[in-house]
Amino acid sequence: MDDYSQISFWFDSLEDTRAEINELPDSVDVAIIGGGFTGLWTAYYLKTKSPDLRIGVFEAETVGFGASGRNGGWCMGSANGMERLLYSKKTRQEGIRLQKVLHDTVDEIGRICQAENIDCHFAKGGTLYVAGTPEVARRHQDWVKFLQGIGFPEDEYCWLDADESSKRIRLSRNHGAFYTTHCATIHPARLVRGLATVVRNMGVKIIEKCPVFAYQTDELLTGRGKVTAEKIIRATEGYTDSIQRERRRLLPLYSMVIATEPMSEDKWQEIGLAKRETFDDGRRVVIYGQRTLDNRLVFGGRAGYYFGSKRKSVISPDDLAVQVVERQVRELVPALNDVEITHGWGGLMGVPRHWRPCVSYDETSRTGWAGGYTGEGVGASNLAGRMMSDLVLGEKTDLTTLPWVDDHARRWEPEPIRWFGVKAIEFFGDRADKVEARGGISRFWGSLFDLFVG
Ligand SMILES: Cc1cc2nc3c(=O)[nH]c(=O)nc-3n(C[C@H](O)[C@H](O)[C@H](O)COP(=O)(O)OP(=O)(O)OC[C@H]3O[C@@H](n4cnc5c(N)ncnc54)[C@H](O)[C@@H]3O)c2cc1C
Repeated sequence: MDDYSQISFWFDSLEDTRAEINELPDSVDVAIIGGGFTGLWTAYYLKTKSPDLRIGVFEAETVGFGASGRNGGWCMGSANGMERLLYSKKTRQEGIRLQKVLHDTVDEIGRICQAENIDCHFAKGGTLYVAGTPEVARRHQDWVKFLQGIGFPEDEYCWLDADESSKRIRLSRNHGAFYTTHCATIHPARLVRGLATVVRNMGVKIIEKCPVFAYQTDELLTGRGKVTAEKIIRATEGYTDSIQRERRRLLPLYSMVIATEPMSEDKWQEIGLAKRETFDDGRRVVIYGQRTLDNRLVFGGRAGYYFGSKRKSVISPDDLAVQVVERQVRELVPALNDVEITHGWGGLMGVPRHWRPCVSYDETSRTGWAGGYTGEGVGASNLAGRMMSDLVLGEKTDLTTLPWVDDHARRWEPEPIRWFGVKAIEFFGDRADKVEARGGISRFWGSLFDLFVG
């Protein structure tokens, strides 16, 4: 690809989206495969702690080409799999510890952006998890009570009744909202490209247009030749099966996104989101929205899987799945009736078989990997980068004992079982959402969905 401006609204709004073609080094101390948030945060913390390390980031396209340059821009103080850790009495204390570290992660990203002059439009307005149905309202209220019951303060997690919630955001269905302060809105492409500039200035070599086909202890095989590396980290998320022997580790699941034209202040008075809060409406087939600094609404929804883990570099705005997201947002936010949608795109999330992140480094093979965020990796990847840097440097810290370390999942099933499995999960989630949208309680479809997604 030459023109990266088409991969997302975020890239289209950047001044320079070109790839830098650098000379391939013969050898590095640490090779990182993938120039997204995970790879770059790992490089950032490694270089901060050990400035003499020779680090190379090998990126198949350009920095931010993957999910990091296409996402919904929610920098969350949480991650997939937290409910399971917190609900179980056995893992609760570790879950609380991880949750608190994730809360601090949002502030850590804000701090670094300020210290390193990364202007990524960071605004910590929190999230409104609006209840689109009475059943979702019940679940959200239970969750808030549960969190408060295990010690999280009311000013960080609270329930807003329908009146209060509707003052914050006007959606077609609003049965109240669970509000948390632990989320910031960001411009993801500015963050990932800004971070790349920072690590380049620290001396990290970023080699773009350089796919890695295979690796083993001490050596990478790239599209431009071999590189010797003392340590190797894989940070390839939804693209992981592009690497030999790593197939079926992470399922590439699509999420589609649209952006509206910039809207007037009057229009935003109608919609709400005065603090640039992010929002969703509690359906299982997740949707997400944010108000950008230039007053657009960016809105996305999870959208599915292609047979054989097929990947597309660019998703066109005319794609049917993007149009579904457009219909959803127009139905959910009535004030958009006369507003133009200017951009539509899609991107790949990486989903492990157990649906939660993993950070792992093996001292014997001197290789490691981090990812599996299942669409919740903007904040989580910073924490993963910090954990990985400690593991690579052999440091035992509070982070290297957190629950994500070495939490490997088994591989996904071969086709066609994989395809049928994912389609079944989508079907269960969709049926459960539909039953609840009609005011019912979906015990059957909801339980089947939860069984597979955890
Ligand atoms: C549409 C969408 C919306 C999302 N919204 C949110 C959100 O609002 N909040 C949130 O927390 N999370 C969100 N996510 C998830 C989040 O964006 C990701 O979890 C996060 O960006 C993952 O970062 P990463 O660096 O691990 O992976 P990526 O950003 O995908 O980076 C992987 C990189 O590796 C490169 N690569 C892959 N294979 C190779 C290879 N063989 N050789 C060399 N390079 C390779 C790719 O080109 C890519 O640049 C969303 C994801 C998508 C797709």
